[in-house]
Amino acid sequence: MTKEELNPFKITQHQFDKVAKRLELKKGTHEYLRLPQRELTVNFPVKMDDGSIEVFTGYRVQHNNARGPYKGGIRYHPDVTLDEVRALSMLMTWKCALVGIPFGGAKGGVVCNPKKMSKEELERLTRRFVSEISIIIGPDRDIPAPDVYTDAQVMAWILDTYSMNKGYCVPGIVTGKPISIGGSLGRNEATGRGCMFSIIEALKHFDYKIIKEDKDNYRIDGATVAVQGFGNVGSVAAKLLFEKGAKIIAVSDSKGGILKKGKGGLDIDKLIEHKLETRSVSDFSGTTELKSKEILKVKCDILVPAALENQITGENADRIKAKIVAEGANGPTTPEADKILSERDIFVIPDVLANAGGVIVSYFEWVQSLQQLVWTERDVNERLKEIMQRSFRETIDAKGEYNTDMRTAAYMLAVERVSDAVTIRGIFP
Ligand code: GLU
Repeated sequence: MTKEELNPFKITQHQFDKVAKRLELKKGTHEYLRLPQRELTVNFPVKMDDGSIEVFTGYRVQHNNARGPYKGGIRYHPDVTLDEVRALSMLMTWKCALVGIPFGGAKGGVVCNPKKMSKEELERLTRRFVSEISIIIGPDRDIPAPDVYTDAQVMAWILDTYSMNKGYCVPGIVTGKPISIGGSLGRNEATGRGCMFSIIEALKHFDYKIIKEDKDNYRIDGATVAVQGFGNVGSVAAKLLFEKGAKIIAVSDSKGGILKKGKGGLDIDKLIEHKLETRSVSDFSGTTELKSKEILKVKCDILVPAALENQITGENADRIKAKIVAEGANGPTTPEADKILSERDIFVIPDVLANAGGVIVSYFEWVQSLQQLVWTERDVNERLKEIMQRSFRETIDAKGEYNTDMRTAAYMLAVERVSDAVTIRGIFP
């Protein structure tokens, strides 16, 4: 067997090529959409706390803006590469198109280890990075947001740096910012909440362990869940599923994993407290230890990979014991693994759908920022639910129409929408 391709950009291009062929995209449109429109690499100095100067490398890649301004998060991670950021920018284009919000796709990243930097160092790194990429971002050009290891505080520094240079406050420059400076209620939980809605839709679709409470509220008492990654996406999804009655039986983060044996699941509120105190889920009372990646093999109804890409691969896909995989992370499943999961009839809710809640509420936040409006949290959550339900239904319908898997169906819908936008706009000059 040849070695599995793990370059995230090659993987994303491969997935796109497959769909472009099926949709019979014109050669020119196909070639245009398989590459980002613009890529900026910056190498910049940051003064460290000990007085030394370190040079960091960062990227902002803008994949496509045919349907609206570029949109996408910024991640801080030691393993960031240009190809990873390219892949993630393309995923953002498809994600926004799939859920029908008027944005294109972009992504940013800085190669750094935020866990080893002080708050002051992170602030200086952020402010200098934003200054470097400010030539291509803007509230109606390209709007950053949080991603892996960036948060509302980092967004506040982005807003402040950009605004200081303009001479006035520009709240629409970034989403995922703190509420006190124009952030949206519900944004922080949005990705996890959207993921929960997509899981409920999948369970409804299969008529599986689902209890209708009233109009549009469901309980999933007893459904078992394993969550890889306990950051902003995994911890919120776990908490909301727990509140819906699910039993969260295993959780992991970058430092280790835990499994709850016997009846009853983990008490997620207590686990969140434990993680806040010790910075890890490990050693939570009443659990046994799980080694790295063992979490993926736990027998459960729903597996939520909510960490990084390339976790479910050709090597371990035959050992996944979940019935549903809901991709909280971007790109957690390789194409080889996809094939195996599909042969084994494991239902995958692809990243562009399962984790779209974040960018959907980013869109709500951007709209509020541009109009100086403040929506209630209830409004935000209801609208998010509506979009998630509609997008899930449309993807299921496309799955039937094209007789394919969920990821290909989602891509078919998204790529068609983007290619229509490119075509109707025409080419300038
Ligand atoms: N980083 C998130 C994602 O991958 C959110 C992006 C945004 O809100 O712009 O979807």
